[in-house]
Parts: sequence; structure tokens; C-alpha cells
Amino acid sequence: HTNKMVLEVESRSCNEGLARIAVAAFSTQLNPTLEEVADIKTAVSEAITNCIVHAYEKETEWIRIECSCQERELTVIVRDTGKGIEDVKKAMEPLFTTKPEQDRSGMGFAFMEAFMDRVSVESSPGAGTSVTMKK
Ligand code: ATP
Ligand code: MG
Repeated sequence: HTNKMVLEVESRSCNEGLARIAVAAFSTQLNPTLEEVADIKTAVSEAITNCIVHAYEKETEWIRIECSCQERELTVIVRDTGKGIEDVKKAMEPLFTTKPEQDRSGMGFAFMEAFMDRVSVESSPGAGTSVTMKK
């Protein structure tokens, strides 16, 4: 069977930890190893942080986190309705960042790809971004 969870939080950095823990708790129904839980937390943190710092910048808006478990696989979708990404392929390259002046290293997507089995990104400039991660 499939089990699902939806969580919506405001784009405040205090909610990054909340979302990370909620997804980790949801993932436990798949009996993950501690290492797998740590990987999921890292990937979710990176995706949520991107919504806060890039998608919405100075505004406070909604971030929607959809989780589902099917068979032995966890799917996490992090959606924002923020500014979107012009060139997704380029944005996903390691070390690419549009905010080098703010101590960003351009490694968020690289970490998501390293820690999850599959990552796909859909984005429309001006309309928002959704990041789908599976493990
Ligand atoms: P780091 O994650 O290492 O702090 P970063 O956030 O710049 O740096 P990535 O997470 O890999 O690096 O993201 C690469 C780029 O993709 C960002 O600099 C930003 O331009 C764009 N981006 C990522 N997520 C979003 C988003 N949700 N909305 C708009 N732009 C985004
Ligand atoms: Mg990032």
C-alpha cells in the first residue's frame, strides 16, 4: 500500500529543522538504516534551504513538502511558488550558485543527488520549482 503525508511550512529558517525531522520520522516506516535517515535529512534540508534563500529571498511564503512511501521507496517532493530557475541543468551542476557573495557554495543539488537515489527538478521562472527525490 501507499502511505502519504503533506506538510506546509512558511519559508522561515526555523522551519527547515521541523521539515527535516518530519520527513525523517515519516521515513521510519520503511525501516531505514541510521545512515539512510541521515541522508534523507541532509537532502531535505538542502531543498528547503533553497526555497528560503533562492525561491522567496526576502518574502515569507509557503513551502509544501509531499512525502509518500510505496513498496520499499520513499518519495519526497519539495515545492515552492517562488521565482523559479531559468536553466535547471546549469543550476544542478556542482559549484554553480547565483549567490556566491552570500557564502553559498553551489553544492545543494549535488548533495541531494549524492544522498538520494534519484532527483528531478521542474521549474518555471516566475511560477516556482518542485524538487522530487526518491530513495
Ligand atoms: P549551497 O546549496 O551550497 O548553499 P546554492 O544554494 O547556490 O549553494 P544549489 O543548492 O546547488 O546551490 O542551487 C544552485 C542554484 O540553483 C542556486 O544558486 C539558485 O540559483 C538555484 N536554485 C536552487 N533552488 C532554487 C529554488 N527553489 N528556487 C529558485 N532558484 C533555486
Ligand atoms: Mg542550496
